[in-house]
Parts: sequence; C-alpha cells; structure tokens
Amino acid sequence: MAEFLRRLAPSAPPLARVDQITVTDVPGPRHPGGGGFRIAASTAAPGARTLVPPDTAVCADCLRELFDPADRRHRHPFITCTNCGPRFTIIEALPYDRAATTMARFPMCGRCAAEYADPADRRFHAEPIACPDCGPRLSFSPAHGPTVTGTDAALAAAQRALAAGAVVAVKGIGGYHLACRAEDDEALARLRGRKNRPDQPFAVMARDLATAAQVGAVCATVAALLGGPAAPIVLTGRAPGAPLSPLVAPGSPLVGLLLPYTPVHHLLFAPAPGGGPPPRLLVMTSANHSGEPICFDDGEARTRLAGLADAFLTHDRPILAPCDDSVLRCDGEQVVPLRRARGHVPLPVDLPRPVGPVLAAGGELRNTLCLTTGRRAILSQHHGDLGSLAAMAAFERSGTRLARLYGVEPEAFAADPHPGYATRAWAQRTAGADRPLRLVQHHHAHVAALLAEHGRLGEPIIGVAFDGTGYGGDGTIWGGEVLLVGSDVTRAERVAHLRPIPLPGGDAAVRNPCRVALAHLAAAGLAWSAELAPVRACSAAELSTLRTALERGLACTPSSSMGRLFDAVAALLGVRQRITYAAQAAVELEALAAEALAAERPDVGGPVAAVAGGRPLAFGLADGVLEPAPVLAALVDGLRAGVAAGALAGAFHLAVADAVTRVAEVARRRYGVGLVGLTGGVFANVVLLRACRARLAAAGFDVLVHQVVPAGDGGLALGQAAVAALADDQDPAPVAGGKGR
Ligand code: ZN
Ligand code: ZN
Ligand code: FE
Repeated sequence: MAEFLRRLAPSAPPLARVDQITVTDVPGPRHPGGGGFRIAASTAAPGARTLVPPDTAVCADCLRELFDPADRRHRHPFITCTNCGPRFTIIEALPYDRAATTMARFPMCGRCAAEYADPADRRFHAEPIACPDCGPRLSFSPAHGPTVTGTDAALAAAQRALAAGAVVAVKGIGGYHLACRAEDDEALARLRGRKNRPDQPFAVMARDLATAAQVGAVCATVAALLGGPAAPIVLTGRAPGAPLSPLVAPGSPLVGLLLPYTPVHHLLFAPAPGGGPPPRLLVMTSANHSGEPICFDDGEARTRLAGLADAFLTHDRPILAPCDDSVLRCDGEQVVPLRRARGHVPLPVDLPRPVGPVLAAGGELRNTLCLTTGRRAILSQHHGDLGSLAAMAAFERSGTRLARLYGVEPEAFAADPHPGYATRAWAQRTAGADRPLRLVQHHHAHVAALLAEHGRLGEPIIGVAFDGTGYGGDGTIWGGEVLLVGSDVTRAERVAHLRPIPLPGGDAAVRNPCRVALAHLAAAGLAWSAELAPVRACSAAELSTLRTALERGLACTPSSSMGRLFDAVAALLGVRQRITYAAQAAVELEALAAEALAAERPDVGGPVAAVAGGRPLAFGLADGVLEPAPVLAALVDGLRAGVAAGALAGAFHLAVADAVTRVAEVARRRYGVGLVGLTGGVFANVVLLRACRARLAAAGFDVLVHQVVPAGDGGLALGQAAVAALADDQDPAPVAGGKGR
C-alpha cells in the first residue's frame, strides 16, 4: 500500500490532474464490513462533481495504430483512447460517460465493448472509443456534386480538391475550419475575398514538426507547445524564405503554426489511395463570416458556409459546443497566451478558498465568461467579439451549458460597468431583481485576473493595466492605468495613469490610427506639419473635420488609452494609418521595434540607443500623470533629423518600459508594495513585456505576467468572478495568499 501511494501521483495517466491525495483507513477484506477492490460503475450524485476534461490531440500510441496496416483501426479517422480525443466539445452531462456524450448514438461493436470493459486495455473506459465497424463516418461533399463516402475515397477527393486550389471546410474538434493550400496565392486571395479579411494573419497547419521548422522559428519551447496535448496555434517568427504565400500573413514577420491534432488532420496530410499529392502546409482558419462565431453545427454549416467553402470534409459525430483553437505567442523566452480555448478549456483556476456560485459575463471583445463553484473558477472558451446576434447567442448558450454541466445555479453575477456592453445588459437581465450583480471596473478586473491565475489573490500589487479601451471609474475611457490593489482584492485605487486626451469619433478613431496620431499631436501642442505621415494620410476634409471636432470638443471622449498611444506612434512613424483588424498598427509597430532592437549591441548600443542624441526618450511624470508630449516631440524631431523609423519605434518601447518602472518605484516608496503586475491587451506586445520585465527586475520588483489567461479582454471574466465571489463573502477582509500551485 505504501508503494501504491508512492506511485499514485507520479504514475498518473498523462491527462490526469491530481489536485490532492487524501488517505483514509478503511477495513480490509478480512475484517467485518470490509470490501475488496473493484471498479464500480459511475452513479450520479448531487453536489459531487468531477472536472470536465479539455479536448486533447490524438496521442502517439493512437497515431502508431492509425498508420499500422496490421491494426484494426488502420486509417480509422476517429481513433481515440483514454489519453486523447474530444472531451469538452462532446460532453452533455457529468459524470463523463459515453452515454452522456455525442458518441451515445454510436453503439459499440463487440470488440470495442470488450476493450472498453477491460481494465488492462489502454482503451478501458475510453468514452469516445470507436472503430471502423461502429464509429462515425467521414464524407466529402462538393458544394455542387455528389457526396463521396468511405474514408479513403473522401480523403482522396479532399486532397484532389485542395491541390486544385479549392477552399475546403474541414470539420474538426470544436467546429469547422476553412482550409486551403498555404502556398497557393489564388486560393488564398479567394479565401480572403470571401471572408472579407484583407490582412489579418491566417494560421498554418504543417504536416509535421520538420515541415513547421521550415516555415517558422521552432525552438524547443515552440516544439513542445505544438506537439503537446493542447496542440494550440503558436505565433512565432517566420523563417526567411518560408514556402508560404505572402497572403498568409501580409506585413507580419510572424507566422501562426499548428500541427495536425485530430486523426482526420493526420490522414489528410498522408498519402491516400487514389488521392492527389498530399498537402504539406494548409491554411486553417475558423469557418465563419467576419464577426460571427465559429461554425460547428452540421445543419448550419451548409447554409452559413455557402459562399465560403467549395467543399466539405465532414463526419456524423456531432459537436455539442463550439471551441476555437487556442493561440499562444512564443519568442523563445516568453510564452504569452492570446486566446484560451481548445485544449485548455474548461480546466479551472483555483481560488484561495471556497466561494459561492458567481457567473461573470466578461467584456465585449474577445469574450469569455467565468463560473465559480467551490474553489474553482471555470473560464469558458473564447466567444470572440459579441457584436453579432449569433455571437451573443453563442455566449448565452455557453454560460447555460457551463452552469448545467457543473450543476451550479449562479447566485450572483459580475459584469463590466460599461453602459454600452451587451454583456452588462445580459447580466442585468439575467440577475433580475433577486440576485446581486457586481460591476467590476475593467482594469481592476484585469489585475484581479492576473492575481487569480497566479494563486496570489490577497497580495498587494501595483497593477499596470494597459489596453485599448476600458470604461473608467469616472465615465471616461481608460487604458493607461496603474492601480494599487491591496490585500482586499475587491478594492482598487488608481495611483497613476496616462494623461487623457480628447479623442474624436470612438470606433472610427480605432480604425484610423492617423486620426489618433493627429489628436495626440494636438494634445501635445505639436503642429500638423504637412510632412508628417498621418497628416499626409488624411484628406483636407478629414483634417478640417478633425480640427473642428478637437477645437470645439465635438464627439470627443477623453481617453487615457495606452493602446491608442501605440496606434498614434505607429501612424506618426509611417507604419500604418488605417487598420483592417484589431491591433494591426500596434502589431506592426512592435515588429519594427523588434527588428531594430535585435540589431542593438548591449554594450556599444546602436541606432536605437543613439535616438535623441543618446538621451533616452522620457514621459513626463508628475502627480501620477504620465505625460506623453515630450516623447511625441522627440519622435517628431527624430523624423525631421532623418532617424530610421525602426530606431524610433525601439526607443518608444523602451520609453514606455522606463515610465512603467518609474511609476512602480514611486508607488513602492509610497505604499511599500514590491509586486508589479503587467496586464491588459497592450502586454500581448512581447518587446514591451520583455523590456518592462527586465527593468522592473533590475529595480528589485517581483513581476507577474500572464501565463494562463490572456492579458487582453479574454482574461477579464476571471478577474470579475474573483472580485465578485470574494466580495459576496460574509467577510470581505484580506484573503491569505498562497504561493501558487
Ligand atoms: Zn490515444
Ligand atoms: Zn468498434
Ligand atoms: Fe481590456
């Protein structure tokens, strides 16, 4: 028994998550009332809840069988075992048994049933177990033409279509992808045209790791992420001369890579009898029209994807809940979560103590929601931007499903206070008169999410929350915030912020960085000189409208957004004046800075260090207000002196990192807090993140950055839930902070 106990945790199966082990003495078989050891059938018991496992990439053992001609599951597209396969997206109810999944409609054949019942078999209780005799069926349907059935025939037809330049909708784990050859300019131009998505990068699925390494920078960390059970999209540097169409990621030095994660993907990349040449690199993008959620329902697919896909590679195992691919960024040092979905959802984040059931609605963009039950905070999958009715419906279904799966009826709700957010309206409606709704300020929620994912709720922190837009405590737009959150995580104090500027035109400003640049120039008292890129980018009419709006304060909202300052600098340096997807200007500015800073020599410096005659660009700082005017003035001077845009972009990033460090030092002196958190969507910027970490660490700070949930609004719901759940408690006093798991 001692040996059993010693091995229990270290020998747990790959997907097991051991939270704790409790040892209790029970009477042995020879004692009265003692029993033997048996594996009993699951029984449903109220209150007793296990975790819903995430979807997992097909494992190495199953892959070996998939391509072993002697195996009875040779080329079976639905091969799975206890260590791999769909979970979250097919489970209807707990406990997790086949009968409660979408596999219930496929009765096991005798051989599968025998494996399922045999404790010595590696498919013992593998709930989605299947084989060619009893499993789901693959089929291929062209938009116009007869359906092809039979695994090999369907795969062969799909390969021929892809080789001929078709866009094929491929049914995966959490929905459909649109796939086409990543080398094929014409196919990509068609796909971009149909999706109305001119620039936003597409992810590329590579046949295997070696092929991925020809396309992008695949270090040991990236390789481990790509090949791991979660199999996310990993954003990494694009390899020089990568055999990709320029239309995969126009203007980006990065490439989003992923590896095949379902047996269907693996078969699609392998030679099929009678098939075309198998692809090596496929663009794989969520199947949807822009602004709508990913398509996962077979009935809907035909209508919703008509006009997007030329053909469908599909099957008859229903997907119960949509789930996009997860996205991580890795630059060799940092791994930054950008979208938390397949492979990670619905694994919980542990709270410091049991709390009542709270449902947090999250933000409006890159939405997730979060449910607390006991000590667990369970984040939903990514729902995208909630601008469409379809997206809002997906959000509502997702909340209902999480609550039902975990048998929890929310007793309280949390939401962002933004009066225009549909999530807030939904939370108000749903909470009604009898259940409390707590509104958690946007940047406060970002900081709380960071503390929660590190298991450090209750530790005082200087929270640096930089993003594009968040409803501020004073009704203006915030986004360049430094908040002090003390041992009571339900309270936050704004200790510093970027100086607000009047920003005309809300959403239109977001889409037109040139206008943000002009607003920033005006606020800094800098002239709109004709030679400046954002001035050149605007028509005379646009300039005069903007001038009037700013002079009279028409339709101008004060904004302290750091995201907008990055947009302004991108426009000023001539990087990007108008955008077609979120954060495009900031992403391109970061790329330019990264290139310049990489060429810098640590000791002797280089062009970046030489900007402004070797004096670092510096924000003003007085009374907790960061003043960008001196930085903007120095950038304009640099442009006039002919300094390269890359060097200026690098110097700007370093100036922001210096400002963060100076603000943190002031806060430490005043409040005695040595812990700094970096959160908010701006910290998806790896150059900035690295510069801030280095400077803060050198100044003796303990620094927290996101590793579990995104720094952007995808993490918001976790922070809202933590604040609301801990506030609802009888005693809102400090919570003892753990050291994390
Ligand atoms: Zn397996
Ligand atoms: Zn079978
Ligand atoms: Fe935000």
